[in-house]
Amino acid sequence: MANLKWKTPRSKTRSRRAANWKLNRVTTVECAQCHAPKRPHFICEQCGTYAGRQVIEVKDDHAGQKHG
Ligand SMILES: [Zn+2]
Repeated sequence: MANLKWKTPRSKTRSRRAANWKLNRVTTVECAQCHAPKRPHFICEQCGTYAGRQVIEVKDDHAGQKHG
């Protein structure tokens, strides 16, 4: 290999474009229940289901308005 004219500056070594551009992206899939974008293998934050089961309670802001 030919000699490099410049060393890579220290500020550039930690974040090289090709190595890191994908890390900033969040992969999402469509929820089977509510069709909201969610992360694969994660509980859906919209409806609280995972693999077709209700896993967590989701507080519904729209339904909680009226008392009684
Ligand atoms: Zn959902």
